[in-house]
Amino acid sequence: PEVITIQELANRMAERAVDVIKLLMKQGQMAKITDTIDADTAQLIAEELGHTVKRVSEADVEEGLFDVADASEDLEPRPPVVTIMGHVDHGKTSLLDAIRHANVVAGEAGGITQHIGAYQVTAPSGAKITFIDTPGHAAFTAMRARGAKVTDVVVLVVAADDGVMPQTVEAIQHAKAAKVPLIVAINKIDKPDAKPERVRTELLQHEVQVETFGGETLEVEVSAKQKTNLDKLLDVIGLQSEILELKANPNRPAEGTVIEAKLDRGRGPVATVLVQRGTLKVGDIVVAGAEWGRVRALVSDTGKTIDTAGPSVPVEVLGFNGTPEAGDRLAVVENESRAREVTDYRARQKREKQAARASGMRGSLEQMMS
Ligand code: GDP
Ligand code: MG
Repeated sequence: PEVITIQELANRMAERAVDVIKLLMKQGQMAKITDTIDADTAQLIAEELGHTVKRVSEADVEEGLFDVADASEDLEPRPPVVTIMGHVDHGKTSLLDAIRHANVVAGEAGGITQHIGAYQVTAPSGAKITFIDTPGHAAFTAMRARGAKVTDVVVLVVAADDGVMPQTVEAIQHAKAAKVPLIVAINKIDKPDAKPERVRTELLQHEVQVETFGGETLEVEVSAKQKTNLDKLLDVIGLQSEILELKANPNRPAEGTVIEAKLDRGRGPVATVLVQRGTLKVGDIVVAGAEWGRVRALVSDTGKTIDTAGPSVPVEVLGFNGTPEAGDRLAVVENESRAREVTDYRARQKREKQAARASGMRGSLEQMMS
């Protein structure tokens, strides 16, 4: 049910909280400033104090922001977005770094020091591939919990000298729950004690049947250390993506997801955003979570300033008035007043939820003490 704290209600009416409390007392309700009341009671109080009440629902505010369907003739192929998962120390970071370095052309090397949480590479076939450079199941789970689906393909890294381990199993379960196809990268094949066959067998016990065992899961033996078969891995990802027929409409206002965000001393709030449909442009008004801003600059994964970013492109967005959170969905809106309407509403919701939780906690604490 919709609730509001007495403080918040008073603030919104520009009345004193004590007057709200007095009115509640008249109706026989004892309340503290931090207590919450339901929407009907709040409306009664507001009207009693001579205010006109317009109740705004989530649907009113969020209407049309996301998931407005595109006509199929407007859809164009887009690059896959890949997350690397696997057990700790099996080589996720090494693999991400090796793929990125192998793809940086001479002269662009300066860009590699830049870390924006996601990057795009070109496979030998010419296909582009976007990697989310925040390996870790926590990030994946957090995004999913917020309803953000950013990953098209999971590359499951399994060290050939160690085999299937608890976090390998966890990753398989995550991918299955999210209905995202897996590609198995059997890593560290350079090691003398590498046993890739054993990995394949162990995977069978978790219902992952690789191609060489007659299954449908694509696999590649790699060495992140010696940079073996990295091109092959990229081509296999390209192959898997063709099967998925990934498409998006690039000619519409952008939608995307915040991959990570920080407050930078010099540049202000900086959000790394994966654009998922449409094209993001400098000058656009964007909302993400409870924050909004006018896009002042877009910076690519190699540190270049760019004017636009289309589907599956990761980009740093500068110009937010506050720092959004990883997992927040980004949308372009018509104008500043719409951006304010959306983010004011969300900020209020957030405050009210926190207040409700806090007063609930106090309630249960008081019960415990008495
Ligand atoms: P993460 O925890 O999955 O990100 O694993 P890291 O990328 O940090 O790698 C863990 C360790 O394995 C490091 O010492 C790496 O140098 C090593 N490593 C990663 N890939 C390979 C590989 O292909 N061959 C060998 N021999 N060592 C590797
Ligand atoms: Mg790592």
